[in-house]
Amino acid sequence: MSFDYDLFVIGGGSGGVRAARIAASEYGARVALAEEYRMGGTCVIRGCVPKKLMVFASGFPGAVADAQAYGWDAQIGAFDWGAFRAKLDTELTRLEGIYRANLDRAGVTVHECRATVAGPHEVRLADGREISAKHILIATGGRPVVPEKWQGMGCMTSNEVFLMDRLPKSILIVGGGYIASEFACIFNGLGVKTTQFYRGAQILRGFDEEARGHIADEMCANGVDLHLGTDVLEMEGRDGQTWVKSTTGHDATYDAVMFATGRRPNSDGLGLEALGIELKPNGAIPVDNYSQTAVPSIYAVGDVTDRANLTPVAIREGHAFADTVFGGKPTYFDHGLIPTAVFTQPEFGTVGLSEEDARAKGPVDVYSAAFRPMHSLFAGRNSRALMKLIVCTATDRVLGCHIVADHAGEMIQLAGVTMSMGATKADFDRTLAVHPSMAEELVTMRTATRSHTD
Ligand code: FAD
Ligand code: NDP
Repeated sequence: MSFDYDLFVIGGGSGGVRAARIAASEYGARVALAEEYRMGGTCVIRGCVPKKLMVFASGFPGAVADAQAYGWDAQIGAFDWGAFRAKLDTELTRLEGIYRANLDRAGVTVHECRATVAGPHEVRLADGREISAKHILIATGGRPVVPEKWQGMGCMTSNEVFLMDRLPKSILIVGGGYIASEFACIFNGLGVKTTQFYRGAQILRGFDEEARGHIADEMCANGVDLHLGTDVLEMEGRDGQTWVKSTTGHDATYDAVMFATGRRPNSDGLGLEALGIELKPNGAIPVDNYSQTAVPSIYAVGDVTDRANLTPVAIREGHAFADTVFGGKPTYFDHGLIPTAVFTQPEFGTVGLSEEDARAKGPVDVYSAAFRPMHSLFAGRNSRALMKLIVCTATDRVLGCHIVADHAGEMIQLAGVTMSMGATKADFDRTLAVHPSMAEELVTMRTATRSHTD
């Protein structure tokens, strides 16, 4: 049977573009890709990249305050959101162009429209055209969800935040995950009066408890008005602002409200159920280790499968798919050890097990140091860094590494290398310290802070 293409990819984000490019350029496959919005997907257009640029922008007032403390006659003026946003738009368009050019160079045919699945080997484009392919890869990502009760009330999500016409004077951010915590710090750093509501006992659920508490304390000390155990009870528009009453009885008016209450896989209306692919309750597409769905010719990678919703994960899954299906090298990405950073201020870098999860698996020794780093101490700030290692008592293997500090995202990348090599505490101890640095603490902690023997 002959097909129009060897591969049709739906979605031009991190996972889809990588799979399309590798299948075409490394393995000579005939590939087409459909993207309904902008090439590059969430990461490039409304995720990691614009977010990180906003993180950088929000760090300057603190840097100037530190500069004064170090003896500089430095003053910071007002932040011009319009100027920043224009530059941001130009940069995103540049990156989008690079993604497009890379696909062109690889010989991938791009359709700038929505696509759905019409059969095991058929894709339907928005204009009704049907295209056949030996394999179909779904890489349609996810989208932010606002609780039903608060939909249609003009609140922002991470999709709108990069498109704001002006910077609000005050903002309420609802949620306690990566996005809510990162944007609370961003807005606070940009000088916006920032309130964050999180319904649970502590933000960043699922991460190491000591690290979560440390981050929350630092965020509050930096000026974020964090309300734990708090949700939105009532909300209404008043004179161009939003009045909100919380479940704890607090009430206030905000210039803007942003919901960062999770994301849902983009699988609605793709036509998968008709082919016998039963979606998970949250819309995620079930796949095996090789990203293959219940229909052998259809694969799915990235956020639409809701395994670990991070750009490098989507890229690895897309690459492994291309190696497996077109390179004849069965390859899968092992989701077991994922270094990640939450770009709060201070940052959180983490890899491996939290103290709580490690402890549930067996006896562990915990090495933990909270200290005032040289840079901020000299500037007269009370900010504290946290360095933490979780070590298996039986094997001496380092099971978890958690860092809360400026540039923790950079540090954890290297801790991730050592842990993927199976590093032991003895390996850390044998490594010479780099002095003076914050990270030297990781190789100089000799006495366990506590041991869990049960
Ligand atoms: P996406 O990048 O979402 O791409 C999917 C693409 O498919 C989109 O372009 C969409 O328009 C398109 N599409 C959807 N349906 C169709 C259809 N039917 N037809 C045609 N096209 C379609 N991860 C990190 O690792 N580090 C970070 O710092 C980070 N920061 C983030 C900040 C924010 C605010 C957000 C929202 C996410 C962040 N992430 C971060 C997560 C990261 O962006 C995602 O994990 C990653 O983009 C997932 O890639 P993907 O290929 O699965 O999907
Ligand atoms: P998360 O799932 O991380 O967090 C969602 C938050 O919203 C949780 O605190 C959750 O509370 C809360 N929540 C969910 N539903 C409701 C509700 N109905 N009412 C009130 N609160 C609610 O999602 P995010 O949107 O923050 O981010 C999505 C994913 O994107 C992340 O998990 C991550 O994989 C990726 N990402 C990665 C980044 C990075 O690498 N730096 C940055 C940004 C995103 P509860 O904990 O109680 O469930």
